[in-house]
Amino acid sequence: MFLANSVSSLAPTTIGASTIPESVWAEVESGEALSTASALSLAQCSDADLPMLLNAARDAGLRFRGNVITYSRKVFLPLTNLCRDYCGYCTFRRDPRQPGAHTMTPDEVLAVVREGQKLGCTEALFSLGDKPEMLFPEMRETLRTLGYDSTMQYLEAMCELVLKESTLLPHPNPGLMSAEWLRRLAKVSPSLGLMLESVNDDLLRPGAAHDGAPDKLPSKRLRTIEEAGKQGIPFTTGLLIGIGEGVSDRVGTLAAIRELHRRHGHIQEVIVQNFRAKRDIPMRDWPEPDRGTMLRTIAVARMMMPEVNLQAPPNLSDETYDELLDAGINDWGGVSPLTPDFINPEKPWPHVEQLRLRTEAKGYRLKRRLPVYPEYVGGVCAGATGLLRDRLAAAVNSVVEANQAQAKS
Ligand code: SF4
Repeated sequence: MFLANSVSSLAPTTIGASTIPESVWAEVESGEALSTASALSLAQCSDADLPMLLNAARDAGLRFRGNVITYSRKVFLPLTNLCRDYCGYCTFRRDPRQPGAHTMTPDEVLAVVREGQKLGCTEALFSLGDKPEMLFPEMRETLRTLGYDSTMQYLEAMCELVLKESTLLPHPNPGLMSAEWLRRLAKVSPSLGLMLESVNDDLLRPGAAHDGAPDKLPSKRLRTIEEAGKQGIPFTTGLLIGIGEGVSDRVGTLAAIRELHRRHGHIQEVIVQNFRAKRDIPMRDWPEPDRGTMLRTIAVARMMMPEVNLQAPPNLSDETYDELLDAGINDWGGVSPLTPDFINPEKPWPHVEQLRLRTEAKGYRLKRRLPVYPEYVGGVCAGATGLLRDRLAAAVNSVVEANQAQAKS
């Protein structure tokens, strides 16, 4: 299946002008998963080679999912913005006495979730700081008042509450998780997430993006993702580009994710997220990755993992976000009709209707999905009991009906 402006094979005349070795283009044309060496070559391709790279990536995306682009209709729940880490690009985190520091109460969680349910949302995305109680006595006191010993315990209880009191499905992103916490959270949510971000240890050196962020040590994050794989938990991860890493780090991060997926088959989605500068962050003067870097990274990700869902957030690419489709993504991630992107509050999500029109203008169809991707639903249902299984089955039906209604309209 091909769309307008798509090419099915690489024109020999263009190959002649390419700075990329012919053997690499031959590998691209084979449709097999790209080797790491070829991926590195393509991730550094010249502007002259970029259109060919994008054509190949878009064709790979079409082979994977046809002309369907998905998104998850969600509410964003910043359960707590206290965090023990200090990432240089983060505008979300707070220390306890800073203006805006907040831990949501169960009533606040429920109010957002119920409003989201009225708007047809099916995902309750829990995003929160990593283990704030380890650094801040104020958080320990907040948790004690709420009746919990740890942020993870509180998160688990809030996931249960969402399942009990609404039709939404929780998708927690709480930072590093131990084997035990992966097991416990998977009982109250069909999928989990942790961005790998980068395999570059140097980002923890003084003055770098992860200076003061012990939970961003790549080996620790890889361990969490691997453990999730051993437990068969559908898992979302990805890379953050433009935070001081190099092109080989980006390809190395993708290769590490691919290796984990090859071992366990549990990576349901890879996100390619771009750093955006903000006034109130230590990296406020840091250059943002340019469009070419973003497109090359997505295209290479698509061809390294031709059968893994690939997402890039539309709200971080301003008006040019539909160009991300040219690089082979098949998903826009979570889009909320209700809550802001608390991680990038200055970048509102596009209205769903606008997203649909822009997606269709590129020749694709926009469809809804749940936080857990369809190919993993059967496995989760088979292993789940009680409320999670029932809610998941009902949510599958509601999304199927919503997509059918959309197709008829
Ligand atoms: S990016 Fe996450 S881990 Fe880093 S400071 Fe922000 S909330 Fe904490």
